[in-house]
Amino acid sequence: LIAFLLYLFYLVAPIGQLVEGAVQLQNGLAALKRIREIEDLPAEPASAPTVREGAPVGVTFEDVTFQYGEDREQVHHGVTFDVPPGGLTALVGPSGAGKSTVFALLERFYDHQGGTITVGGREIRDWPLGDLRATLGYVEQDAPVLAGTLRENLLFAAENATDDDLWRAVRRTRLDDLVSRLPEGLETPVGHRGVLLSGGERQRVAIARALLRKPRLLLLDEATSQLDAVNELRLREVIAEVARETTVLVIAHRLSTVTNADRIVVMEAGTVRAMGTHEELVGADTLYRELAATQFLVS
Ligand code: ATP
Repeated sequence: LIAFLLYLFYLVAPIGQLVEGAVQLQNGLAALKRIREIEDLPAEPASAPTVREGAPVGVTFEDVTFQYGEDREQVHHGVTFDVPPGGLTALVGPSGAGKSTVFALLERFYDHQGGTITVGGREIRDWPLGDLRATLGYVEQDAPVLAGTLRENLLFAAENATDDDLWRAVRRTRLDDLVSRLPEGLETPVGHRGVLLSGGERQRVAIARALLRKPRLLLLDEATSQLDAVNELRLREVIAEVARETTVLVIAHRLSTVTNADRIVVMEAGTVRAMGTHEELVGADTLYRELAATQFLVS
């Protein structure tokens, strides 16, 4: 029997090696693909930015022009606005005005063709890409809840955060109510295999996740979903609180967000047509008045 088992082992071992070899080859190919992807990224300078670590950063767009491809229509036709460091700035405008494109350019998913974009006083192309992405936090409109526990969802992309960091982010995003309501607190599975979270809760989880990476500029595409009064209030409080320590640029879909914003940038057809506070714009800009009356239905 032992001889037979030994025979079997010699027979099977090479197959095992073959499988292992194939796996290694596959891993190697995947790594190669990633290197290719990295190589395709825009060239970045070696020098580090000089802005103070951790402090909120401002943004300027000056006469920025952009089109997604040579055969595409121009999307930004000389966009000019500035966002000082800290505080809440809201971007508003009709669908297709170019608001999401502002975010795409800030994240440097694309390079603008004309004009100047600065982040923290430095031309965006002069930022090492890794540093730029570490400086920005991005919260999408319908942020997905990942499979796993609430803790895993929060620590995604910030595995090294301490428990103190985690609880601070939970408190800052007013998720402590949710945590105490969940049967196993932070260890409760969420998402479609666990406790379902509402649209407002999902967005606050996404904000907490972004905050754990300590961004100096938070780009927030506000949820358009209907929120109940409590979630609406919580989201408003959270955005205001985050804006006390970080620069927040929000694509706003709620009247309560624009009325609380320190400044509002009104975009239309790839340009900025007005800037000001809610009160100023209601008095001065017809498009804004119309948007406030018709588009910000979620009030
Ligand atoms: P919405 O409120 O509907 O999201 P928006 O103001 O954010 O609109 P953008 O999403 O920036 O506007 O779109 C501006 C224009 O750019 C639109 O004509 C859109 O079709 C086009 N566009 C947006 N993203 C891309 C892309 N990845 N590739 C090609 N064209 C795009």
